[in-house]
Parts: sequence; C-alpha cells; structure tokens
Amino acid sequence: MFYKILFPENSGVAASVQINNRTMKQYKIKQDRDLCVGCGRCQMLCEENWEIDDDDYKAKPKKEIIDETEYEKNKQVADECPVQCIEIEEIK
Ligand code: SF4
Repeated sequence: MFYKILFPENSGVAASVQINNRTMKQYKIKQDRDLCVGCGRCQMLCEENWEIDDDDYKAKPKKEIIDETEYEKNKQVADECPVQCIEIEEIK
C-alpha cells in the first residue's frame, strides 16, 4: 500500500492523504458542548476519539479532523448521542 501526504502550499488547508493515488476524504467534527449531558455513550462507542473532560464532565473529541477510515465509528457516535449535539461534515 502506498501512502502520500499532501500539504497545499500557502493554502491554510489541512493536509490530505493519498492511498494508492486515491485522496482520502476528510471530515470535521462539530460538537455543541453546551448540550452535552456527559452520558459517556460517545466514549463507550469510540474510545479512540472521544473522552470525558475531567474539568466539566462533558465529552470532547480527541481529534476534530478525521479521515474516512475513522468516519463510521464517529458517525455512529453522532447518530447515537442522546442530545444530538454532534455533526460531522465532509471537508471539501
Ligand atoms: S453521547 Fe453526546 S451527550 Fe453523551 S457524553 Fe457524548 S457528546 Fe455528550
């Protein structure tokens, strides 16, 4: 498998990743933390990217920018959050 990371020059855009000459999609996680009730479901479903903050007992993503290999689990988190405070948008 061939990986290539591309950094657009002076664009301020996040790097994109190519696998076997195909550019992977990237997504941005948006969370309205005011709505979070700290139930921990997100952390239970996707411990790799969700944690409960020790200061306010609300969840936060470890990474806000994810790629398509991480999308399905984070989408499940968004779908199953009881207060629907998470959105995931594809970065164009
Ligand atoms: S599932 Fe939703 S409400 Fe529960 S801790 Fe995670 S972000 Fe907060």
